[in-house]
Amino acid sequence: MGSNLFDLTGRIALVTGSSRGIGKELAAGLADAGASIVLHGRDTDRLAATTAEFVQRYGASRIFSYAFDVTDETAVASNIARIEAEVGPLRILVNNAGIQHRVPLLELEVADWQRVLDTNLTSAFLVGREAARGMVERGKGKIINICSVQTDLARPTIAAYTAAKGGLRNLTRAMTSEWASRGLQINAIAPGYIHTEMTQKLVDDEKFNSWILGRTPAGRWGTVEDLAGPAVWLASDGSDYVNGQTIFIDGGMTVVV
Ligand code: NDP
Repeated sequence: MGSNLFDLTGRIALVTGSSRGIGKELAAGLADAGASIVLHGRDTDRLAATTAEFVQRYGASRIFSYAFDVTDETAVASNIARIEAEVGPLRILVNNAGIQHRVPLLELEVADWQRVLDTNLTSAFLVGREAARGMVERGKGKIINICSVQTDLARPTIAAYTAAKGGLRNLTRAMTSEWASRGLQINAIAPGYIHTEMTQKLVDDEKFNSWILGRTPAGRWGTVEDLAGPAVWLASDGSDYVNGQTIFIDGGMTVVV
């Protein structure tokens, strides 16, 4: 065991959806702990801007970026292969890319259901499977799946998202049952309500905002920074005997019935 359990120096981490929001802060946390970072998103302008920021902060030798759609099986396979050939073997994967679609269940169209399932759940299977091929071969790797408190809460108007995140929680367990014996640790983080672009409308909605503040024992929205520490821990040697768990980072929201 090294002298610093949380040191990620020399380890390569891919964080999907790290061009902005939660993924960007998780990538910064891993970079602060010493990891080399593969930034990712679809919007190439946004990704280029985030990459420039990271290069200035951490230096060009540790920062890389790849744009691809996590729902496209061919693009995922070719980009993971390119990353491993061009940057090096992946040691850490954070499956963070995700979307929400708010509509009452009776009005939910199949196309929207499918898009939400593809982006939040199938993507983790696709990227996870491709990244795990090398990790299993090398006998080392950390996968962190970004779930949600909706796996427990199931709030109205986000049925597809809730189903996808529930599936992702169980995919975390399924990956564990097959890959833990091969040296991989796969865990999930379930964030509560975090102030990002995805939730800006909810922050602006006075009624919803006061519901959140009342419903959360910590009495505030989560920030993207709140998630970085737990992610560094789950990516590090300090969590080597943590397998298949979902860690709720929600200001206590899910302990209140
Ligand atoms: P944002 O909307 O701010 O960012 C989403 C990121 O995912 C962007 O980088 C986006 O890239 C990328 N992305 C979306 N779809 C795709 C796709 N098909 N292929 C590639 N990249 C894609 O979201 P948040 O930061 O708020 O959320 C990040 C994760 O955290 C999600 O999984 C979300 O469900 C989860 N979460 C968020 C909570 C919150 O309160 N904000 C609470 C609980 C969980 P691009 O711009 O290029 O499309």
